[in-house]
Amino acid sequence: EASAGAKQASDWLSTFVETFESSRAALDEIDQKAGDGDVGTNLANAAKATLTRASGKGADLAADLNSIAEGFLNDTGGSSGPLFGLAFQEIAAAAKNGTSLVEGVKEARAAVTRVGGAEPGDRTIVDVLEAVATSGAEKLDAAAIGAAIDGAESTKEMSSGRGRSSYLGDRVLGTPDPGALGMALALALVAEAGGA
Ligand code: ADP
Ligand code: MG
Ligand code: MG
Repeated sequence: EASAGAKQASDWLSTFVETFESSRAALDEIDQKAGDGDVGTNLANAAKATLTRASGKGADLAADLNSIAEGFLNDTGGSSGPLFGLAFQEIAAAAKNGTSLVEGVKEARAAVTRVGGAEPGDRTIVDVLEAVATSGAEKLDAAAIGAAIDGAESTKEMSSGRGRSSYLGDRVLGTPDPGALGMALALALVAEAGGA
């Protein structure tokens, strides 16, 4: 039973929130090795915040993606929030315009670099966005998600150029960037929602 005033989220948005909640501890643990140990908490809290902005059941994918963007932009601590929010603004815009979400990921890659300054190889979410953008995939399909996961995994071999983990240098080698794992997870959930 929804509490008074609360809107019931679309099923996939609920899945999105629940999946980030269940990934909270694992991502925090990875961020303990490579940062300050809070990225899972930051992303789970941001995901939860999207629910207060959601238009509810029957909302189209673009509206749900926009709720995610707003939740991440406005309700998070940590550097991941604004950058995820920015990325989701671009992905939502692609959904709204009826172009492939892969086009949105390409715009997201450009926007995140413009604002955050990270380039591919700096051990950030840019490595995931870049992997999808350059995968040749025309839709956000299984191949595109495979590229996203490979992009996240590839950060294991990178020492950090941006963000908090840049202070740790080579100590992070062997550990994937938790923000990149979170972005790959987010894109996989969007693809599962039927967004292409
Ligand atoms: P904080 O370091 O402020 O605690 P979070 O833990 O919320 O931030 O998020 C850290 C993640 O944010 C990193 O794992 C990385 O993927 C991402 N990140 C940090 N700085 C940048 C940047 N300049 N560009 C892209 N992604 C970044
Ligand atoms: Mg952190
Ligand atoms: Mg922090």
